[in-house]
Amino acid sequence: MIQVKCEGHSFEREIGLILALFYEDPEIAYVQEWNNPDDIRLVLTISEQSDGVHARGELLSNGQKMTYSYVRPFVGRDEKAMRKTAKQAVSYTLLMLMEKFTGIEQGWGILTGIRPTKLLHQLLSSGKSREEAHELLIRDYMVRPYKLELLQRIVDRQLLVVPDLYQIDRELSVYIGIPFCPTKCAYCTFPAYAIRSHTASVNPFLEGLHYEIEKTGEWLKRHDMRITSIYFGGGTPTSITADDLDRLFVTLHQSFPNMDQVRELTVEAGRPDTITPEKLSVMKRWNVDRISINPQSFTQETLHAIGRHHTVEETIEKYHLAMEMGLTNINMDLIIGLPNEGLAELEHSLEAVEKLMPASLTVHTLSFKRASEMTQNKERYKVASREEIRQMMDLASRWTAQHGYLPYYLYRQKNILGNLENVGYALQGQESIYNIMIMEEVQTILGLGCGAVSKLMAPGSGKLTRWPNPKDPKTYNETYKQLVEEKLRDLDQIYFGSTFASRS
Ligand code: SF4
Repeated sequence: MIQVKCEGHSFEREIGLILALFYEDPEIAYVQEWNNPDDIRLVLTISEQSDGVHARGELLSNGQKMTYSYVRPFVGRDEKAMRKTAKQAVSYTLLMLMEKFTGIEQGWGILTGIRPTKLLHQLLSSGKSREEAHELLIRDYMVRPYKLELLQRIVDRQLLVVPDLYQIDRELSVYIGIPFCPTKCAYCTFPAYAIRSHTASVNPFLEGLHYEIEKTGEWLKRHDMRITSIYFGGGTPTSITADDLDRLFVTLHQSFPNMDQVRELTVEAGRPDTITPEKLSVMKRWNVDRISINPQSFTQETLHAIGRHHTVEETIEKYHLAMEMGLTNINMDLIIGLPNEGLAELEHSLEAVEKLMPASLTVHTLSFKRASEMTQNKERYKVASREEIRQMMDLASRWTAQHGYLPYYLYRQKNILGNLENVGYALQGQESIYNIMIMEEVQTILGLGCGAVSKLMAPGSGKLTRWPNPKDPKTYNETYKQLVEEKLRDLDQIYFGSTFASRS
C-alpha cells in the first residue's frame, strides 16, 4: 500500500499512472493524515512562483527518507498551459523519486496514454526539426535517449515504407474481422469464439459480412476512394472453410473499387491448426501479400498452458507449406512473459525462428488485460519477474538486430509486463503497411465484421471518430443492416458534412 498526500494540487490520476509504471496494480490511498506505519508514504507538494511551478517530493519507507525538488518553467500563462505545467511538475518529481527509490529507470519517462511514434510524427509533420522534436520529448516527457533513438529509427523506417505517410489520409484502409478461432487462448481479449461451439453463428455472420462488404464497396465506388491496405483479422480468419474464404474474396473483388491498386492485402492465419493447402491456395489465387503464422512460443508446455491446441511441429510444418505454395511474406508473433517462460525459453524460441527466418517478427510483451482468462486467474499463471522480462526484451532486440530485422512499429499497452512495449520487426522491404496505418492513426480505417472498430477521419482533419461494430456474432447477425446504414451515414457526415448518427 502507498499512502499519498497531495499538497497544492489533486493530480491523483497522474500519480496513479506514474506509480503503475513501478508496481503492478499498486494500492494507493490519498490521505490527509498518515495511518498504517508500514506503508510507503509520499508527499507531493507544488506551488506556483514567478519562474514556474516548484515541486517537491518526499518519500518515507522503513525509516528511509528521500526527497526530490524540481522547478518547471511555464510555457504559457493561460489556465490550460499552467495546469499542464503543474501536472508535468508533479509527474516528473514523482518519477524521479520513484526511480531513485526502486532503482528502475523508466525509458519512456512520464509518457503514458499516447503512442510515442505518433507523437513524434505529429511533431515532425507540424514542421519541427528532428532536434526540436527530440528536445521537446525530453523536456515534456523525459523520454530517455535510447528510447528516442529507437523512436526515430522506427519513424524513419515508416517514412521509407510509406513515403506519402503525411498525406495518406486521402486514402483509407479496411479491416475485416472474423471472430472465430479453434479454441480461445488464455491471454486473449479479442472477439474470438471457439468455432466448434458456435457453428450455428458462422453462416449468418458470413451473410452479414458479405452484405457489409457490398454496401461499403458501393460507398467506396461512389466516392472513388483509394484503398491503401486490407487486413483480415479477428479471431483467426482461416478458421472458416476454404470455400467460405474464397467466396469472401469474390465479393470483395466485385464490390471494392481499384482493387488492383491496393498496396497490401494481409490475412492473419495465426493459428497453424487452421491452415490447410486448400486455404493457402485460395489466398495465393487472390493475391494475398502477407499472412501471419503465430508460434507465440516454441515450447510445447507453454502452448498447452495458454490453451493453444497445436504443436510446435505444426507451426514449422505450416510455415514451410505456405512458403512452398508461394506465400513467402510471413509474419510470426512471439510473446515475452508467457507462463513459466524465462530467458531460456525465449532463447529456445529465437533459435527456432532462426531456422525459419520469417519476413517479419512481432515481439509482444504479455499484457494482463482485465477480461482475459489469465488475468482473472492470475494466481494460476507464474510469470517472470520484471527484471527478467526486461532482459528478455533486450535479448529480442539484440537478436533481431543481429539477424537483419529492423524495428518498424511500436506500441505500448496498459498493464504490460515491466512497462515495456510491443515491437514489430521486419526484414528490409517486408514491413506491413497496414500495421503502420493502424499504429500511426493517419487515415480512416474502415472496420467490417465482428469486433471491428472503425476509426473515421476526414482528410486533413486529424480527428478520429471511433465506430465499433458489435463484438459478438449474435448481435452482429441481428443488427448488421442497420449498423452498415448508420456507419455509412456517419462516414458521409465526417467526409462531406451531412447527417450524423454516431454511436458511442
Ligand atoms: S488465436 Fe488469437 S484471436 Fe484466437 S483466441 Fe488465440 S489470441 Fe485470441
